[in-house]
Amino acid sequence: MSTSLDQPLFDTFNRVNLKFVSGKGPWLLTENNERYLDFTSGIAVNAFGHAHPYLVNVLKRQAEKLWHVSNVFEIEEQTRLAERLCANSFAEKVFFANSGAEAIECAIKTARRYHYCNQQPERVEIITLDGAFHGRTLATLAAGGQQKYLEGCGPKALGFTTVPFADLEALKSAITNKTAALLIEPIQGEGGVRIVPNKIMQAYRDICTQTEILLVLDEVQTGFGRTGKLFAHEWSGVTPDILCAAKGIGAGFPLSACLATRNAAHGMTAGIHGTTFGGNPLAMTVGNAVLDLILAPDFFSHVNKIAKQLKDGLEALVTRYFNVVSKVRGYGLLAGLQCVVPNKQVIDFARGEKLLTVAAGSNVVRILPPLNIEEADLANGLERLETALAKISKSQIGTH
Ligand SMILES: *Cc1c(COP(=O)(O)O)cnc(C)c1O
Repeated sequence: MSTSLDQPLFDTFNRVNLKFVSGKGPWLLTENNERYLDFTSGIAVNAFGHAHPYLVNVLKRQAEKLWHVSNVFEIEEQTRLAERLCANSFAEKVFFANSGAEAIECAIKTARRYHYCNQQPERVEIITLDGAFHGRTLATLAAGGQQKYLEGCGPKALGFTTVPFADLEALKSAITNKTAALLIEPIQGEGGVRIVPNKIMQAYRDICTQTEILLVLDEVQTGFGRTGKLFAHEWSGVTPDILCAAKGIGAGFPLSACLATRNAAHGMTAGIHGTTFGGNPLAMTVGNAVLDLILAPDFFSHVNKIAKQLKDGLEALVTRYFNVVSKVRGYGLLAGLQCVVPNKQVIDFARGEKLLTVAAGSNVVRILPPLNIEEADLANGLERLETALAKISKSQIGTH
């Protein structure tokens, strides 16, 4: 690992000493020609693995035509992607940006403007859940409420309150006449793959409707097929007023979106919000191509079939190596393994078997294969994971 003395980058990441130079599907190749199986997918970003031929071709063709024009002009691919997202979701309006945090910022402004334009300018407070992660800008950090990320970054942005996870009474008593919205992840990704149960999600929706606050879903990690539907909230049958998508939406091209009902977006009038890069022709063309793949017949049935294989495989590992891992979490291809040993040890040992996984809060290891992974590659990954767990398990027994 490099230190600040000999490398030019901000020291904000503890980097692993591995350099990847190319990829194909779920595989990554290092500079030394070693093959790694990638069950991080760039943290739920590379939804179709690496170098997907269709996406590569679409990007190449667009790169030769037009990269960027300002949003002061009409961008056909942008309108088309918005129309298609609306046709396939609860939404009627879309704003495109470049990152998850930017989409959340847009959602926060949209919720506040909604009340402002409804003659309730005092409604500015956003309620979020304990353990949440909504991004790294100053407002989204305040929304996440995690002290370790806020420390030393100056005054915490005002207007955010955090309540305990899945605690309806706590939410009800936190709502006041200053509340604008409830902002939640259907499954907390960074927070440890914690699922909001369907019943609780339905109760959240009811409470929001009754108290006339907006339900904002952060589907930055759960969206775009990760859970086996276009958006995770579809499993619960409830619809939000506003939704943020990013990560998988561009399959590796930086792109995000804030989706809303016409009513929820009515305060977002000309000049209130903007972006230089968001929604440019290159990003939008890739976004449309990603959607082509996601909306293809049988895509979701493939994801759900693989998800079952993954869940069954992980459950078997938990039974066999209960002194290392204790529980399977998650939904679809957003899976987590609750660890008994430090999660870092599991990740390190898996990497020793050339399998890449990623940490989450509450001592969880996240397993995020590409959505189009084949059964054989998934089985291969589960075998590598088993080898890693077996090695840790053995060393555990040795210490007792
Ligand atoms: C990754 C993530 C974000 C932040 O996205 P960035 O693109 O890093 O700004 C926000 N919310 C959730 C749920 C995420 O997983």
